[in-house]
Amino acid sequence: METTPGFDGLRCVDCEATFEAATATHRCPDCGGILDPTYDYDAIDVTREELASRRFDSMWRYEELLPFTRDAAVSMGEGATALVECPRLADELGVGAVYIKDEGRNPTGTFKDRGQTVAMTAASQHGASDVALASAGNAGQSAAAYAGRADIDSHVFLPSRAGFTNKAMVNVHGGDMTIVEGRIGDAGAAYDDAMSEHEDWYSVKTFVTPYRHEGKKTMLYETVEQLDWAVPDHVVYPTGGGVGLVGMHKAAKELRDLGLTDDLPAMYAAQSEGCAPVVRAFEEGRDVHEPWDTPDTICGGIEIPDPGASPLILDALRESDGGAVATSDDDILDAGTLVAKHEGVEMGATCAAAASGAWQLAEDGEFGADDTVVLLNTGTANKDADVLRSHLMSKGI
Ligand SMILES: *Cc1c(COP(=O)(O)O)cnc(C)c1O
Ligand SMILES: [Zn+2]
Repeated sequence: METTPGFDGLRCVDCEATFEAATATHRCPDCGGILDPTYDYDAIDVTREELASRRFDSMWRYEELLPFTRDAAVSMGEGATALVECPRLADELGVGAVYIKDEGRNPTGTFKDRGQTVAMTAASQHGASDVALASAGNAGQSAAAYAGRADIDSHVFLPSRAGFTNKAMVNVHGGDMTIVEGRIGDAGAAYDDAMSEHEDWYSVKTFVTPYRHEGKKTMLYETVEQLDWAVPDHVVYPTGGGVGLVGMHKAAKELRDLGLTDDLPAMYAAQSEGCAPVVRAFEEGRDVHEPWDTPDTICGGIEIPDPGASPLILDALRESDGGAVATSDDDILDAGTLVAKHEGVEMGATCAAAASGAWQLAEDGEFGADDTVVLLNTGTANKDADVLRSHLMSKGI
């Protein structure tokens, strides 16, 4: 495999057994736990100056801190997204500065591309002929795109309520799409059935492949570098499966352990009141979530009632001294339209949970007057312009 010199292999987050990446491809062969890429950080020599000398052109500029070489990557120049300063939002929230990390500028319009570029590189390195996943929509679109580029067949299982753009673009990328009546759990069940019938299919599903959170961690590297190495005080993240949140927390610890930074940002999980298993577990002081009975939110990307990695999410929130916040769909859509109106940034409906959550956290007194707050705009509003527009309609606008 075309791995980077510092990449050590995979470690199970449950039983702590370690494995070689060439042979362990998905969950822990011993206990079924999530595998996490590990590195020999002593052997990794990246400095602020060295990074500054590289073009800001792709997340693969952090190659030393990724498992595979940039040369081997199935890549379309994903990452390297803008960090947009939002002074009016900072005033409204009563903080020193607000920035939006605009992940809508990725090849398929969401940060899912950061996960898929690494997962698809792994699939390609392992010689996969077919990849498969269940997704709420954006990950499926992204996987179909990257699979096409890698000349791998993709099998995408989406719930009927996935957005039109997602469904259309899976077709356009040449993916094999199965639409399952119902929600993400129903799509997941159909995917499970298909996986058991096709032993040669290679999963690129969240936390089944060890590489999606690994790709998403680059959002934090970029953010810190874009802030001239000042670690933001708070990062608010629209949380479904928590892949990005877990990845960014890992990245913050890596930067600290490499001596590039001193602090960790406080990580916050923002969810919709219609599906908030992580917020409930955080508030109840539990180490693991309980599945949400009747998920119902307009925020499809975070309508994840049973996030399997919740122990990792809750650890990240507590270890970073962050928190969790849920707001209503109505408030979320209000926040999304307000950000578009006041700052120009086009936040997807799901992503607006981060803005709405930040408002709530500000009201709760969680932020200081000089603090820097980063909101993750995980995907472009183009994909749900209809949702945002009809929200205005419901207000008579
Ligand atoms: C998938 C998705 C999320 C949730 O991501 P996780 O990292 O799994 O929590 C948030 N926003 C958008 C737009 C998404 O597509
Ligand atoms: Zn294990």
